[in-house]
Amino acid sequence: MSEQTNPFESLQSQIDEASPYVDADDDVIERLKHPERVLETNLTVELDDGSLERFKAFRSQFNGDRGPYKGGIRYHPGVSRDEVKALSGWMVYKCATVGIPYGGGKGGIIVDPSEYSADEIERLTRAFATELRPLIGVDRDVPAPDVNTGQREMNWIKDTYETLENSTQPGVITGKALDSGGSEGRVEATGRSTVLAAREAFDYLGKDLEGATVAVQGYGNAGWIAAKLIDEMGAKVVAASDSSGGVYNADGFDPVAAKDHKHETGSISGFEGATEEITNEDVLTLDVDLLIPAALENAIDGDLAESVQADVISEAANGPLTPEADQVMADKDVLVIPDILANAGGVTVSYFEWVQNRQRFYWSEERVNEELESIIVDAFDDLVESYEQNDLDSFRTAAYVVALERVAGAFEEAGTFP
Ligand code: NAD
Repeated sequence: MSEQTNPFESLQSQIDEASPYVDADDDVIERLKHPERVLETNLTVELDDGSLERFKAFRSQFNGDRGPYKGGIRYHPGVSRDEVKALSGWMVYKCATVGIPYGGGKGGIIVDPSEYSADEIERLTRAFATELRPLIGVDRDVPAPDVNTGQREMNWIKDTYETLENSTQPGVITGKALDSGGSEGRVEATGRSTVLAAREAFDYLGKDLEGATVAVQGYGNAGWIAAKLIDEMGAKVVAASDSSGGVYNADGFDPVAAKDHKHETGSISGFEGATEEITNEDVLTLDVDLLIPAALENAIDGDLAESVQADVISEAANGPLTPEADQVMADKDVLVIPDILANAGGVTVSYFEWVQNRQRFYWSEERVNEELESIIVDAFDDLVESYEQNDLDSFRTAAYVVALERVAGAFEEAGTFP
């Protein structure tokens, strides 16, 4: 794993790759390479033993030309200002790729949540929500879950915001539990778009998904759901990993049983459905039809990319391939479905949640899944059109061309102010 690659520089280089094909002035493109603003804050939280601890936290609002800033909140010791900036930029281009009316934002706290009690995490979350209150809002900036945050944290942020604002505003945050104004289908949405995009890519290549072999790196929300859904589509999940290591079975295993094992024991290692314990790196370099990276950024750098044997990669994680890895994949003709399309299901169903919150009218899971599928399939078709018309060497660049045209178009139509 490359420790050196700065994800914000990766984002800027992805924009640079696409910009020659975009009908927009250089100064407009330059503007689209930097966040509009970044909040850096120090949260003081009382621990259970009565002592105080300081936590550094960020919220980056990258671009709001197409709608409110939108993006998750991550709790991880590796969070940094540049990581949050990169993730917020990827949100801009993700929302534009799938054509939903949002800009992009992202937040994070430098913390390993496993070292703190639930009460401490609640106080930390409410402290962050209090700092975020002037910046967020239903029509301003709408956070959501990311790594190590979920419905619990979203419900606390909503409650803190509503208490301080003295009003009911469920649309201030998405990824909430159903009883707190969440949407059917939200928990599964990221994994669902990852596999829908993979299905479209297999179709485009004339490959059969039935019986195709799949490896999944990272077995959290995005990864395990992708494993479950691709198994339901007839593919065979042969390997999976989490931060404890990887497991393998050439005949495939039951992804739900693997998730239950992880739930019960805290890790995927030792899963009885596997025949072999393998390393994280092995999972990424197995000879499979489809690889789904679903952990963190920079999972595959240029060196490791040389050993990757998958035919198709569908990026459930944000930024799992470095720009050097991208180049290797293009040279090897590996089809990479970029994060800004593959994992866009999360933000798309967040958008549906926000629409339902505003309307105070809730949809069935069937409707959510149908609307999601049509958005992902349409976005895939737009991407293929850009790929073919511009004679590009990667789907990522094609997606950035589509997205940059949309964001630059909105900016140019609005004109500059002041
Ligand atoms: P999560 O915390 O639920 O799961 C992360 C998983 O990755 C865990 O199983 C962890 O053990 C594993 N992991 C960490 N380091 C690893 C390593 N080196 N090798 C193998 N596994 C490793 O997080 P998540 O919500 O599933 O998010 C995963 C990725 O998907 C992130 O990049 C996130 O930004 C992206 N994503 C998530 C959503 C969403 O709705 N949850 C939406 C869009 C994108």
